[in-house]
Amino acid sequence: MATSVDIITDQAFQQCLSPDCSATFDVGDVYTACPKCGSLLDVAYDWERSDVPDSLRWFESKWSRRNEPLCRSGVWRFSELLPFAPPEKIVTIGEGQTPLIATDGVAKYVGTNPGTLFLEYEGMNPSGSFKDNGMTAAFTHAHMIGAKRAACASTGNTSASLALYCCSSKLMQAVIFIGSGKISYGKLSQALDYGALTIQIAGDFDDAMLRVQQVSKELGIYLVNSVNPFRLEGQKTIMFRVLESLDWQIPDWIVVPGGNLGNSSAFGKAFHELHALGLIDRIPRLAVINAAGANTLNSLYNDNGLRWNGGRPDQAIINKYYAGLDAASSKADTIASAIEINRPVNLMKCLRALDWCDGVVREVTDQQMLDAKAQVGANGFGCEPASAASVAGAKLLREQGVIAPSDRVVCILTGHQLKDPTATIAYHTTDQEEFNRVLGKRGVSRAAFANRAVKVENDLDEIVRAIQLNS
Ligand SMILES: *Cc1c(COP(=O)(O)O)cnc(C)c1O
Ligand SMILES: [Zn+2]
Repeated sequence: MATSVDIITDQAFQQCLSPDCSATFDVGDVYTACPKCGSLLDVAYDWERSDVPDSLRWFESKWSRRNEPLCRSGVWRFSELLPFAPPEKIVTIGEGQTPLIATDGVAKYVGTNPGTLFLEYEGMNPSGSFKDNGMTAAFTHAHMIGAKRAACASTGNTSASLALYCCSSKLMQAVIFIGSGKISYGKLSQALDYGALTIQIAGDFDDAMLRVQQVSKELGIYLVNSVNPFRLEGQKTIMFRVLESLDWQIPDWIVVPGGNLGNSSAFGKAFHELHALGLIDRIPRLAVINAAGANTLNSLYNDNGLRWNGGRPDQAIINKYYAGLDAASSKADTIASAIEINRPVNLMKCLRALDWCDGVVREVTDQQMLDAKAQVGANGFGCEPASAASVAGAKLLREQGVIAPSDRVVCILTGHQLKDPTATIAYHTTDQEEFNRVLGKRGVSRAAFANRAVKVENDLDEIVRAIQLNS
């Protein structure tokens, strides 16, 4: 689908990320990869010709205009740092109004000093995950080029987000592709409720991802998966808001779960651009955390030494790794369905982000994630299992001495607690059968922070005694 619509824009363009190609394209072109060489595309800007403020504090002036939708949105109030859309084309539903909170209970669990551990609560978005940050940007681009249908493959949250933008704006029909049996009910229920055309494929996420790309091409449907470079522009603003919440100070670490690697890629781009524009003087370190059951990035980065290498990563390492997965018929498998992905589409961009941010990669088990999730839940916020990879990863990096006790650490909570209640209930249950059915088969053997329901007879004395015994 390469229909080019002329959009007069003098400051934004698309650019191939391969340094051996670097081809550029109009903002109005719709590609999911560079048509010359097949690499991923970036949205790039001629900053000389745009009105970037000379200090991040300038954005505070937008707060007094919160009644205007583009100032209220936590994405578009930073529009000067993603200037690709004419204001009248921007589609916003109030995304990105998310808090950053210091949580000492979680700091204690991770092993850092009080006041140093922050949770960026992206579950507070309209559809309950960080995906809305990117969707408002991609949806705006789809609207700019006149699309009438938009599609994605999804482990759940992208489809929930796309479905919400479609049904609330009435500008497009949502077509969502999901694998069978892998999507949590919280997310599937959103897509169905929001009226999306839902195609359930007999396969897993990686299969759905392949098919949606083929189908979009064949039917000319706008693709909003994270291969879409415009989504990542919206996701940059998560980092702008982190800085804003820290009174524009730079933390030492950003820790984020890694699935398709869109977030980590966007965060790296955000800091790289802010630094190049002279708006920050230091770049925080980035930690990307895989699930052990979906650990392609960790394997490639730590076991096979794959690096960005100035834009020329060793493709042979990647090919060999994927051939190995195929030969073993190896499928991603983790309770953290949002990151249950073996072929991350933004791998190249993530390698670049790791290079820009002096990054590290780790993997954590389902056990580590669920324990971390329970700690997040017990200390003020809840999150879904994948999100807790950030906190579990921070704890691991602290134990390894990579993160110091005094470091200021921001963990991204990517999705809302209520997205996947099945895992939460199974963790806290006293029913061993239920525990085994949901968690045991994934190697989870204990629930260290379980909060068990107290079972009691329907009898006043028994109930009173139970409360006195347990409080
Ligand atoms: C999509 C998603 C992720 C993975 O993010 P990537 O950008 O694909 O790496 C992690 N957590 C949640 C809750 C998600 O919805
Ligand atoms: Zn190219």
